[in-house]
Amino acid sequence: MPRIFVATLGTETNTFASFPTGLGQFRNYVWSEDGIARVAPSHTSAPARHWVRRAQEAGWEVVEGLHARARPSGIVTRGAYEFMRDRILAQLAAAGPVDAVVLNLHGAMVAEGYDDCEADLVTRIRGIAGPRACIAAMLDPHAHIDHVLVGAADIIVILKTYPHVDYVERAEEVFGLVERTLAGEARPVTALFDCRSMGIFPLTRAGPMPGFMQALRAAEGRDGILSLSLNHGFPWADVPQAGAKMLAIADGDMALAERAAREFGLRFYDSRAEAALPFTPFEAAIAEARAGGDRPLLLADVADQTGSGAPGDTTHILRALIAAGIRRAAIAVFFDPLAVGICHDAGVGARFTMRIGGKYEPHSGPCLDAEAEVVFLGRDARQSQHTGGDSVLLGDVAVVRVEGIEILMSNRRIGVFVPELFLDHGITIADKQVLVLKNLYKHTDVFAPLVRRQLYVAAPGTSNPDWHELPFRRIPRPIWPLDPDPLGRDAAAAGARP
Ligand SMILES: [Zn+2]
Repeated sequence: MPRIFVATLGTETNTFASFPTGLGQFRNYVWSEDGIARVAPSHTSAPARHWVRRAQEAGWEVVEGLHARARPSGIVTRGAYEFMRDRILAQLAAAGPVDAVVLNLHGAMVAEGYDDCEADLVTRIRGIAGPRACIAAMLDPHAHIDHVLVGAADIIVILKTYPHVDYVERAEEVFGLVERTLAGEARPVTALFDCRSMGIFPLTRAGPMPGFMQALRAAEGRDGILSLSLNHGFPWADVPQAGAKMLAIADGDMALAERAAREFGLRFYDSRAEAALPFTPFEAAIAEARAGGDRPLLLADVADQTGSGAPGDTTHILRALIAAGIRRAAIAVFFDPLAVGICHDAGVGARFTMRIGGKYEPHSGPCLDAEAEVVFLGRDARQSQHTGGDSVLLGDVAVVRVEGIEILMSNRRIGVFVPELFLDHGITIADKQVLVLKNLYKHTDVFAPLVRRQLYVAAPGTSNPDWHELPFRRIPRPIWPLDPDPLGRDAAAAGARP
């Protein structure tokens, strides 16, 4: 019977964020040295949970290593990364010979001294597990991948949804490939094609991406292609491995893998401009908010989304709404533990001059001092996940009303998954002129029926989506859109036109 080793390690590192990610941020989010069963069900624990269950059902022997995840944040401290890495390596070494190592990674962890933690980890795992072990990793599409990781792993599968909802489906894809490899029924070889592009590429927007993903799925399992994955890349990281990449796994045929990676990679490249999420300049977004409409306008405060490592406490949009005279508005989620604590002391109904936001890090920018009324308080509040499953901890919350605008604050850095987040905390949606979410894209589909339009706003902040404004120094060049046509395809296409 096969023996497999299962572990989880990941975060999404925003190298522009000012605050480091220490061990505490892993211990406070997902942490178990005692099996994934001890971790609350969520999308971050779902893959390992699935693998352990499937392996046990198949009668395999399962050894579990560390399971650790942190919310997106700044660069991981060297001590934290090395501690977790060495823990996993020691657990693997102690396990003795294994047939497979199956890892739930994110793929965008950057630590002090390590641009690509996953490549470092998997290379060292290969050194312990040996050349014959099957090493498989599951990644988020907002990852950094180069030949080092591809060379160290046998199987890499990336989520095929964005918003991400296919954690279990992809975990099963990984398990199936491992199962076939161990049985001698498949011999996975992987090719990587560099699409030389960066941006945010949602898969549920009208445009080329739904069709692209459909074609990609249709090509899997046929003519020797085992698996196809598009890595979108995580653009708020200044690392040499950055950028969109196409990954193809073929059955024993490297030339076939290379052809497939190139074919799909070029197809993505040719549609990159249409596929990329458009961002709305800050002033234009506020002008549209002022215009009003029959249903709320949804503004995604992209630059301050905690989901990509921003603090979640900037006041730029809040201040602009007040200045524009907009009163029927709601904002979530403001990360402000100090303000939440003060509100809990004061109680519902209290009115006082309050300092809101602008506290956590230099990108937090100016705070807002304003007359506030506490309208709702909650302890250990929870939020449903857009992926289903158990709710996740939101923390202690307070809703304050400032100039008519309702602000949902929490003592945990977290984004908005579902509209119920507002309703559960006494904030109505239908009567609002504007809703502001400190999110990027994950809310888009679930909020679509409730709002008249959604804009992705380029306000100031850590995760500013104006790529030309970010102080990149180490990403590979040329890369689109900083360079117009890195693969030289646009000129050829234009020349081919009659
Ligand atoms: Zn992602």
